[in-house]
Amino acid sequence: MNCIFCGAELNSSKKYICTTCNEKRRQLRIYVKLNKAINKTKKSHTRVFHASYDFEKERLCIINKIKTKKFDFKSTEEMCVALLAEKEGIKYIPNYRIGPYTVDFLFPDLKVFLEIDGSIYHTDNQSEILREKQIVTAFNNIFSFIRIDATEVPNCLITGLKDSIDYVLSERIISKNVSHLQEDTLRFIEFSDLQKYLLRKSI
Ligand SMILES: [Zn+2]
Repeated sequence: MNCIFCGAELNSSKKYICTTCNEKRRQLRIYVKLNKAINKTKKSHTRVFHASYDFEKERLCIINKIKTKKFDFKSTEEMCVALLAEKEGIKYIPNYRIGPYTVDFLFPDLKVFLEIDGSIYHTDNQSEILREKQIVTAFNNIFSFIRIDATEVPNCLITGLKDSIDYVLSERIISKNVSHLQEDTLRFIEFSDLQKYLLRKSI
């Protein structure tokens, strides 16, 4: 059997595509998603700042990391977060693996794990709470876990990813290390509403 794309000989009769072409296919899928994320983030930026920003520099940085560091993204929202992290020069690792778990984002310098949760997530999910606890414990409780509702991305992060994360952590009442999807998301919205209000006043 030969690779259906490049014709290279394959070592298994169950395969139709070689590893090189398969990697190209993986990258292509991510680039299509990246374009979607860029359009979404651009729109959000224009709406808030009344000025456009092309995210070209950020696109190139992400493409480079997809190739060299094998960065992978599960959703458009994750890419929006990556674009904002690049823009603000925040170090990040998407789909960070810890033992059996994967976290959407690790921000090593901010000492934060960020999960972007879709509508299927439930805060009363005991296994999810246990998972979070184990991850935080594995990092000696130095790192905080934050959650955000996917529907608020990138709109409520556009005024500042780092600033909004700082705000959510500083507003935590019960425990610095325990996340709560609804509460965290409300804090994110609160912060972005305030920033947007201040921006409107200054224009
Ligand atoms: Zn091939």
